[in-house]
Amino acid sequence: MTEELKWIEDAIDELGQTAIKEDNTYWRATYTEEDRKGTALLKRWMEEAGFCTYFDQVGNLFGKIEGNAKDVVLTGSHRDTVRNGGRYDGALGIITAIAAGKALYQKKGRPEQTLEVVALCEEEASRFLTGYTGSRAITGTLREDDLSEKDERGISLKEALEAEGYFDGTLPKARSDIKQFLELHIEQGGVLEKTGKQAGIVTAIVGIFAGDIYFHGEQNHAGTTPMHMRKDPVPAAADFISALNRWALTKGTDLTCTIGNITIEPGKSNVIPARLKLTFDIRSGSQRLQEEARAKIEALLQQFQGYTPKVVYACQDPPASMDRENVSALGRLAKDQKIAVMTMISGAGHDAQIIAEKIRTNMIFVPSEKGISHSPLEFTSIRKIEPGYRLMKAFLEQAAWKK
Ligand SMILES: [Zn+2]
Repeated sequence: MTEELKWIEDAIDELGQTAIKEDNTYWRATYTEEDRKGTALLKRWMEEAGFCTYFDQVGNLFGKIEGNAKDVVLTGSHRDTVRNGGRYDGALGIITAIAAGKALYQKKGRPEQTLEVVALCEEEASRFLTGYTGSRAITGTLREDDLSEKDERGISLKEALEAEGYFDGTLPKARSDIKQFLELHIEQGGVLEKTGKQAGIVTAIVGIFAGDIYFHGEQNHAGTTPMHMRKDPVPAAADFISALNRWALTKGTDLTCTIGNITIEPGKSNVIPARLKLTFDIRSGSQRLQEEARAKIEALLQQFQGYTPKVVYACQDPPASMDRENVSALGRLAKDQKIAVMTMISGAGHDAQIIAEKIRTNMIFVPSEKGISHSPLEFTSIRKIEPGYRLMKAFLEQAAWKK
């Protein structure tokens, strides 16, 4: 193994150690002791690699290698983790960014464009519910209301930021100097492993269409109300769920549909329920399919008018497209490097989807062992990281060093 790969492997371990809490759970929530320890380590590594470091208003940590031009090529990922998460989600994208920047700088000297690496804060909603705080600071889309959001202990985002010394009272402005962003991330699913591909080139990040649907019945005695005299919302909802799932199945891998939670009121075994609430979560990389899903739900509910169905939409976030030209460029680089790649849609949310609203953005996926993520069992061997990392380096070399 090269020294460069050995460094990545060791760095994953060492950074991972800093997220182990006293009670032995693995969790790096934003602006906590674990975050401070991890950030200090990342800052040291950036400086050892030749980057000048600085923090922005929300505590995103940047490392900068000045180029001949002021335009910035940015690469990195998030440093926070979910509670009981793993050592690769987010962390791998920062560690590989530092390693790639260091290796390229040593080999090629001062770049043409300025290269920056970033360790973003609060992507996962690890402490504050909205999430994507770091990437929204970069795109200037953080709002005053977001600052008043509170964590489990009632501390607001603003208070937490002030306590860390990052915030000076003004909302972060959009960065206009960043021209491109690249994020390497674990796949968090099992497609690459199953197909034997070495890396994924992401074409889009799914949009999420989600909400709650209510079905109303007539609460009554389970023993004395004959079947034909009931108005029971449960079988109605079951029929609706089956029909919606059958429709979703016809969309192949282009759409997912999940009914993740059902609440029945009053929820007693001997009472015909008065009301049922179900959640739906529909994801797709296609805006057209997302709209089709909404129309399908509304059409299906027409068949259940007897149960006065009501839909409360929680969100309809459009899918985010990755930069098409660079998707092709990554494909060509992979071919040159003899890396077996596939294009794919990301079913999970990433900072890249926020940054893509304003800046040309791309993502590279490396395989996740057994497709496991958001778990301490998350794992990708250095052998499986290597092809995606090599692709990342080739891309950054072209983006930042080419005249
Ligand atoms: Zn992540």
